[in-house]
Amino acid sequence: MKFPGIGRREFIKDGCLLVAGAHFVSGTSKRVGLQGTIMTVRGRINADDLGFTLSHEHILVDFIGAEKVNEGRYNADEVFATALPFLKDVKQKGCSTFVDCTPAYIGRDVQLLQRLSNASGLNIVSTTGYYGAAQEKYLPRHAYSETAEQLAARWIDEWKNGIDGSSIKPGLIKSGVDKTPLSEVQAKIIDAAARTHLATGLTIGIHTGSGDAANEELKILERRGVAPSARIWIHAQNEKNQSYHIEAAQRGSWVSFDGVSPDSIDENLRFLQMMKDKKLLDSVLVSQDSGWYHVGEPKGGTYNHYNCIFTDFIPALKQKGFTQKEIDVIFITNPAKALTVKIRKLK
Ligand SMILES: [Zn+2]
Repeated sequence: MKFPGIGRREFIKDGCLLVAGAHFVSGTSKRVGLQGTIMTVRGRINADDLGFTLSHEHILVDFIGAEKVNEGRYNADEVFATALPFLKDVKQKGCSTFVDCTPAYIGRDVQLLQRLSNASGLNIVSTTGYYGAAQEKYLPRHAYSETAEQLAARWIDEWKNGIDGSSIKPGLIKSGVDKTPLSEVQAKIIDAAARTHLATGLTIGIHTGSGDAANEELKILERRGVAPSARIWIHAQNEKNQSYHIEAAQRGSWVSFDGVSPDSIDENLRFLQMMKDKKLLDSVLVSQDSGWYHVGEPKGGTYNHYNCIFTDFIPALKQKGFTQKEIDVIFITNPAKALTVKIRKLK
């Protein structure tokens, strides 16, 4: 296996996993020769340094709704103390970068994420944008009254100046829609995401209710001149008809199977095998949508760990005949390409 751009000294320094047949002892050291940068809560890092990435997880979530959500509803120190052991554990298992996909108005707290990034050593990526799924329960009122341009201006401001009065910037535009037909406001926030992409180069991850909704999203993006490669189809596993996954990947979109758990290993293996058979593995992202401290429950309720991909799923992939190179593509190369800050216009 070649590691472009790594000198011998670095090779030895980072060499803990470069032993034949080694498991993911440390994803951090696997460089794949990528250009560009990715924005984390501790600032920009090189795409090539992203390492093993969990591209869709959560640390803190509050489902109370946009009108009632606020930071006074939880004790940040308690959340920090609860989440940190889980983050340290998955770092030790080989995770290097962690995307906290929680959007504004569902508990996004970038100061907390930065503290946890410092304490755990994980790169953590946060988001801008609004989430219109779940019948729009998590949209603030101004999402209805403002234009797409005005909403985009708010998100572009977070990119330029930081989130919630901090200097911490988003690394992803996170949005969400239900099944088709998309409501007017759901379509508007996707248009706002397209505008934000063109101004910032941030990739657009969209929680998506169905394959038809995924196609609608691409229509809206393309109307604004944004290429499908700027879109991550989040929760692609919600669509069981794989012809949608194949079509989306062939058009250049990222297809995210992000519900890996002990109960869904077989289904996810089937999804990935089909993508492999169609030679589309380089469009796939895989994560767990795990966590989290649940605001409103005593001590945050049951916090699910982030280890299943390491302990169960990768061994299952290997048993299915997936090579280490293919596993690296799924968990290192693809997330690095998907999260690279870059404007992707329709050709
Ligand atoms: Zn999620």
